[in-house]
Amino acid sequence: MICKCGGVLNVIRVETPPKHLSKQEKLVYSRLCDVECLNCEKIYYSQPFDDGNRLNIAKDLRRGGD
Ligand SMILES: [Zn+2]
Repeated sequence: MICKCGGVLNVIRVETPPKHLSKQEKLVYSRLCDVECLNCEKIYYSQPFDDGNRLNIAKDLRRGGD
């Protein structure tokens, strides 16, 4: 992610999935994160953190194949 000023955004906080979710639900849960621009120090709240990662999780068929 890039700030409007052109600076690089650094993730400073990531949401924790709600505790009542099952393992499976946590895997597909889209977490939000807060990011801060390393250049102008502007903070963007509640940005999508897991966006685009879900396909990779679904593709990993080796896990849990007990
Ligand atoms: Zn900036």
